[in-house]
Formats: sequence, C-alpha cells, structure tokens
Amino acid sequence: MANGSTTTGTASATETATETATATATESTAAAAPRTEVRRPALSPSRAGDFKQCPLLYRFRAVDRLPETPTKAQVRGTLVHSVLERLFALPRGDRTPEAARELLRPTWSELSEESPEWMEIFTDPVSAEEVAEWLTSAEKLLDSYFELEDPRTLSPEACELHVETELDSGVLLRGYIDRLDVAPTGEIRVVDYKTGAAPRLIGEAKAMFQMKFYAVVLWRLRGVVPRQLKLLYLSDGQALAYTPDEPELARFERTLEAIWQAILRAGRTGDFRPNPSKLCGWCSHQDLCPSFGGTPPDYPGWPEPDPGEESALDRAD
Ligand code: SF4
Repeated sequence: MANGSTTTGTASATETATETATATATESTAAAAPRTEVRRPALSPSRAGDFKQCPLLYRFRAVDRLPETPTKAQVRGTLVHSVLERLFALPRGDRTPEAARELLRPTWSELSEESPEWMEIFTDPVSAEEVAEWLTSAEKLLDSYFELEDPRTLSPEACELHVETELDSGVLLRGYIDRLDVAPTGEIRVVDYKTGAAPRLIGEAKAMFQMKFYAVVLWRLRGVVPRQLKLLYLSDGQALAYTPDEPELARFERTLEAIWQAILRAGRTGDFRPNPSKLCGWCSHQDLCPSFGGTPPDYPGWPEPDPGEESALDRAD
C-alpha cells in the first residue's frame, strides 16, 4: 500500500502481531494509569477536536467542565470497548463470539456499579425489557466485530494503552489507544473501534484526526511511523485503513501545536467563540450558547490541572 493512502474493506483474518512487550514510562494501559494525580495541561484528540469544531464547546467541556448526559450509544460504546479489552485478555483460542457475549452482561454490571449515573440512559423506572434490548444492540456490535477480525489470530501489544509525549515545542499530547498491534518486523498498527451512530462522513474526518494524533504520539515516543491506522466500524461492519507518512505527520504535528497555541490564547482571554454547524445537533449546551439565544456562565479562568483530559465516554465514540 502506498504511503498516505486509504483503503476500506473487511480486515484479513490472518493478520498477526507480536506478543506483549514492556511499555515505556510514557505508555501504560488504562487500568494501570494513575487517574487522580495532578497533571500538566495536555492536548487530547477529543479536546483538540472540540476546539477545532467549536471553541465554545471546548470551553464548556474542558474549562467549565459542564456535566453532559451520556447517550445510550455512548455508554454502549464504552461497554463494547471494555468487552473487547477483556476478550483480548483471554488466551487466544478462547476469543470466540460466544466468549464475547458471555463477557457482556458481567462487564455491564461492573461498569454500571462504578458509574451508576449511566443508568440514567434508561427511562425511569428502568424496565428489564429496555435494558435487555439495549444489551442486545451491544451484542450485535460484538458480532459485527467478529466479521471484521478473528481475534484468535492476533496478539496485540496492548489494549487501552495510555500514551503521552511532549513535542519539541513543549506541547504535551495525551490519549488512549484502543489497541496497538506490533508485527515481528516492528511495524506498528493502531486500531480503533467505532461504535457510534454519527454520520459516517463527519465521523470519519474526526476519527482520522484522532488516528493521526496517535500516530504522531507513537512516532515521537518510539521513533517509528505507524504502518497502518485502522478504524473498525462495528455498526456497519466496515474497516478503513490508512498509511501515514513522515512528512504528513510532521505537518500534522505543526497543526496540533497551532491548535494548542490557539487554545492557550483563548484560555488567557476567555474568548472562546461559538462556531455553529450541523454538529450543534449533538451539543448538550445549546441553552448556554449565544448562537441559540443562550448566555454562557461567567468565565471561570484557565483550569488547573488538566483541561485536556478525556473521559471513558470520549474514548468510546
Ligand atoms: S451549540 Fe454549536 S455553536 Fe453552540 S457551543 Fe454547541 S457546538 Fe458550539
């Protein structure tokens, strides 16, 4: 495949990658990553995407940190990501569709216990039928995953890998990679599962931005340009693969630096302007947005420690 090219289609079931290797000091799996310590402000793909889409949306999420009610699709995405992570923790031969289905309900019990507010996605009072129907929709996404890949042929280096790197300019990049495959030859593949219902064209641009973000982080961490960035769309059973090249990642790095500088400028003055678009339909804050007749709360000032943090729901879109 030529550099900078994109391909769409079903993944090969025979692709393999090497066994787990030791992570560097700036890489850790989500379960091991310390989540409560005070950390330097960093840029994450979700927050960078927010600022690009609408500076005021970035402010609401990263500075004001306004609560958002998750949707059924977002929580389902988190659940499916968690099941796939657990599936890859099983011995290779045990990673069957049946095993994934068996993991689904216990994983949901754990997640809903950890985040009881997620139960608000259901009508009150919660009916067993509604929950069962929603779990069945998650099961369908898992079935769709098995049409794209056979996990028994894969040995990922890591799932839910926390990565962080500082660019020469001082910009700190931070994110979570759904899955990292490393071939015996050292070639790296970044894999991301997409479970959301957002329109494909809009979602694809956002997803590719996110994947290039991870490619830059890995390139800077390991000195290797990832061979492939792969998106697995579980809702429609499609795969999209992209091969970045070094000049492209260097340009993208400059884009990230420019976004971070623009965020810092806005952060100093509090001038986060709305940028209305068709994506406003997915925004939870229209009632506070001047473009919809609302008034934002007083600017609370640039937050410490970290206005770049991503939530589990961000990572599972
Ligand atoms: S409603 Fe639209 S313009 Fe307003 S904050 Fe949300 S995304 Fe931005």
